[in-house]
Amino acid sequence: MRRKLVAGNWKMNGNLAANSTLLNELVAALGTSAACDVAVCAPAPYLSQCQQQLAGSVVAWGAQDLSAHESGAYTGEVAGAMLADFGCKYVIVGHSERRAYHAESNALVAQKTLQALHSGLVPIVCVGETLAQREAGQTEQIVGEQLGAVLVLLEPAQLKRIVVAYEPVWAIGTGKTATPQMAQDVHASLRGLLAARDADAAATTAILYGGSMKPDNARELMAMPDIDGGLIGGAALKSADFLAIINAAS
Ligand code: PGA
Repeated sequence: MRRKLVAGNWKMNGNLAANSTLLNELVAALGTSAACDVAVCAPAPYLSQCQQQLAGSVVAWGAQDLSAHESGAYTGEVAGAMLADFGCKYVIVGHSERRAYHAESNALVAQKTLQALHSGLVPIVCVGETLAQREAGQTEQIVGEQLGAVLVLLEPAQLKRIVVAYEPVWAIGTGKTATPQMAQDVHASLRGLLAARDADAAATTAILYGGSMKPDNARELMAMPDIDGGLIGGAALKSADFLAIINAAS
């Protein structure tokens, strides 16, 4: 049995005061045990705050991006080792907003995944098709190319240390969700790609769904056999909604 993971992606939201309230509410509500793994991926300036407020709790924390480079003359970039310094467990790589607004290619996302692993972080590798690609019947091909570019670089031991997130671009922040069956079909094909590389990795790797996951649709999505949790944007900013989704994972 794979343990489910519910990870919040705060995107470029929050401030010290609002984060403090949100994190306190999560820690107080979850206590010492949660029915699934829980994490929040915060903007880089707030990782120290996450470390201070979440250390010793059941809530892990992570970042939303990292540099493809180890260190050096890369103004504005944040290295994986720096994220690890602040206790991050996870880092999101290849989110569709980075692919779209920062021109991140499959090759760059693959390099970032490697850097995350070298830094001891668990990369949450995001893949997903646009509406035009879905309507053209290209979903499996697109997500296959996106994940394939990553998988080809990884050693078997590294394959077991990644999390995959399927996030259809047309469902992100739009209120439109993939139906459980639509998502399950893509998750199964992604697991098939993992299996082609390593059967053990395919059996153990968490594949999260993301894209307008909310308290009222989380349970049926996560009930699907290949949906192992969620990457939650908007609903991760309100503790009541995020906690309800965590509950739905159990
Ligand atoms: P959403 O975002 O839940 O607001 O759709 C998900 C994501 O982009 O990770």
